[in-house]
Amino acid sequence: MAWDFDYARAWRDLYRPAYKCLSWDLRQLFRRVAVECSELHQRQDLWMHWPDEDSHYVHGFTEPLRANFESFDDEYLAWASQVIFGLGHYAVGRDWQLAQWVALVEKPEHLSEGFKKLVPSDELERVILNGPPSADAAEKGLNPATQEVYDAAQKEIRNYGLGGAHWKFSKYADEVLTVRLGLPLTEPHGARLHFWIDDGWLTARYSTKDYMGNYRLALATKTRLGRVRPLLEGKKPDAFEEAVEEIREQTMKSLSGNRLDAFELKPKYYTHEAGTSYSDEELEYKFRTSFNGTFIVRGIRNVNFKPHPFTIGPKHMENSGMYLDPNSAPCAVPGCKLKYEDHLSDKVMFLECARDVTEKEAKEVLGSQKIIDAMEHFEIDGFAFVESRKGYKFVKGEEGEDTDA
Ligand SMILES: [Zn+2]
Repeated sequence: MAWDFDYARAWRDLYRPAYKCLSWDLRQLFRRVAVECSELHQRQDLWMHWPDEDSHYVHGFTEPLRANFESFDDEYLAWASQVIFGLGHYAVGRDWQLAQWVALVEKPEHLSEGFKKLVPSDELERVILNGPPSADAAEKGLNPATQEVYDAAQKEIRNYGLGGAHWKFSKYADEVLTVRLGLPLTEPHGARLHFWIDDGWLTARYSTKDYMGNYRLALATKTRLGRVRPLLEGKKPDAFEEAVEEIREQTMKSLSGNRLDAFELKPKYYTHEAGTSYSDEELEYKFRTSFNGTFIVRGIRNVNFKPHPFTIGPKHMENSGMYLDPNSAPCAVPGCKLKYEDHLSDKVMFLECARDVTEKEAKEVLGSQKIIDAMEHFEIDGFAFVESRKGYKFVKGEEGEDTDA
């Protein structure tokens, strides 16, 4: 089974379109960071140095950079921090930094005359929409001369020193928000619960002597911090996790489109490799919205092993290539001569009632043709029910009774 995070798709389908939807004022601010802060570095406390108060005169802007950031409200600034960080981050790791490229393209007065001649604007837009050119440029319908564009762009980027514009923008935005929300700029020593802002997301860090976890809660606004803080403060680990889950569910209900995708980034942009089997985690994600608020999927696992779980041993490691191949050696349980496919088990989906559910409803939801077909397709054998964390249960519904309660 193979499930890989698809950077290119996250960039193409989420961050690039989201960037295009940001207001002109905000995109202007990003371009400003690219140009005005190109020589600036991170401070020792990991925030960014701000430009001198008068640097904006040089670049023709009418107010200091910080005031420019302050002119956006919490919600919009937090979202911009996330989008612009993603725009650069998911393009990074290639040999071309697209965020900087976008910054250049949209502020063409900073491009040299020679470069402008080299880049016809329609080709440029095509490059932007298709992602950075690569060896298969021709297959993607790009002009082979794109290589020239590409090389020239890299030179331009070096000339203007625009490297890192995306994360610098995000740092400035997060710092402005951190101060606005009244949060400390550095983590207080020994704090069990610490709120901080991570590329626009309000995040709770919970740490004990032997445990540390970060939980993304919502876009960072003063109102949301005020709402979630009392729900999380002073909680023991179990109650804390439950409260976090509740907050995250609320956030997901309140978000849609690009914002929901960005919040759920990891599962959404995993890609299944054709011809491989589905991992339990992947199936859990696929089914998570299949039960219309009646049941919550709590996991997918194999049970009822016959005669026992197939066991991987050193021989499999020796004999396998890049992916572990269970058929490369017999089962490692002593005395077992059975092959991989002779070890049987049932794949079970564990469900929890999301509210009180009548038996009639349960039958309708779980017995729908859509669910039956999907179960068959993904080779899931059945359902098992775990106790609801909120005390919901199956109830007997009278014939014809309204069960909306
Ligand atoms: Zn065996």
